[in-house]
Amino acid sequence: MSGPEEDPWAPSTPPWEKPIPLKIPKPPPAPTSPPAHLDYPPVYNGLDYLRSVVSHLDHYEPSPRGLKFAVLHLQAAAETLLKARLVAIDWRKVFAKEAEADHAAYRNGDFISCSLDETIKRLRAEGIDIEPEDKGNITHLGKLRNQLQHFGITTGARAVEARATHVLDFLIAFVDDYLRPGLSGSEAQHLDEEMRSIRLALPRIRGYVKIIMDRVGPELVGREWYTMRCPDCSQWALLAEGGEVTCLFCDKNWEAEQFPLEYATGVLGHSLRDYHKGEAIPAEQCPECGAFALVGEAYLVNAPEEQVQYCFGCSTVFQGLMNCMRCTSLYQPMEDSFPICADCLADLG
Ligand SMILES: [Zn+2]
Ligand SMILES: [Zn+2]
Ligand SMILES: [Zn+2]
Repeated sequence: MSGPEEDPWAPSTPPWEKPIPLKIPKPPPAPTSPPAHLDYPPVYNGLDYLRSVVSHLDHYEPSPRGLKFAVLHLQAAAETLLKARLVAIDWRKVFAKEAEADHAAYRNGDFISCSLDETIKRLRAEGIDIEPEDKGNITHLGKLRNQLQHFGITTGARAVEARATHVLDFLIAFVDDYLRPGLSGSEAQHLDEEMRSIRLALPRIRGYVKIIMDRVGPELVGREWYTMRCPDCSQWALLAEGGEVTCLFCDKNWEAEQFPLEYATGVLGHSLRDYHKGEAIPAEQCPECGAFALVGEAYLVNAPEEQVQYCFGCSTVFQGLMNCMRCTSLYQPMEDSFPICADCLADLG
């Protein structure tokens, strides 16, 4: 049997190139079991990026340069580690167009790989659990990375740090759950050593975020009906009150009608690309105040698991709003009434 290739992305030899085995082959693993062969070099690179992220964030006040590298390397770590898992399932799956997957191109690294968004979609299709919240954090990180490359960081350093901490948390759990079980021997040992030092730094990094949350905490007390997760820092520190949308952690404001898109991408983890491609902006006209600032999915800090409809224009919480069958505008249906709004009902006499 030929040994694995030297190329970091090269998987084991594909089935059609394999010599006829002399021994009875082992049965293929069940789909949910750890990968039979996880290529270590990409994992190694991903860990290296994570180490760099930690060293840049592990300061009470990271420098702008430190934050820049933290974001760039965190994005690189996410991409490398998630794709390493996808390759362990099937190397063809990292091609942007799976149908055009070619092993020679793959071995030379000469191909267009799928986006991070698409990687997450494909991993989910294989039964790998990635929560919408984690997807939101990663999506937002990608946005920050692009901003960095074009304009430099404009968002507050605190927000970047807080957001990065969430992604770091997610990646550590991902390595534990989906990469570590595919390794053994010296590779597993190396991974454990790397992860140990990353884990040691994590409480300190979280601690810097907590200092700010402790400071703004008293201001949030009694305003739980307006408090949500912020799309920039991912903290439950966003007040959407009386048409004003402000994050106390980031010290940032948004326009009520501009905010639904930020919320959909940064908190709910929707793909910004889908909206650019023409998917409708995730806001409807509020039946209460008339602003185009009502979202069909939002979560408040007092019931973080309960989905509500929320208007950022008048900060009204709705449940069960429906689109009128006649004019399509949103309305609150009464029991046993026609599925049309009061205006249309009056109009029809
Ligand atoms: Zn914030
Ligand atoms: Zn409203
Ligand atoms: Zn109507």
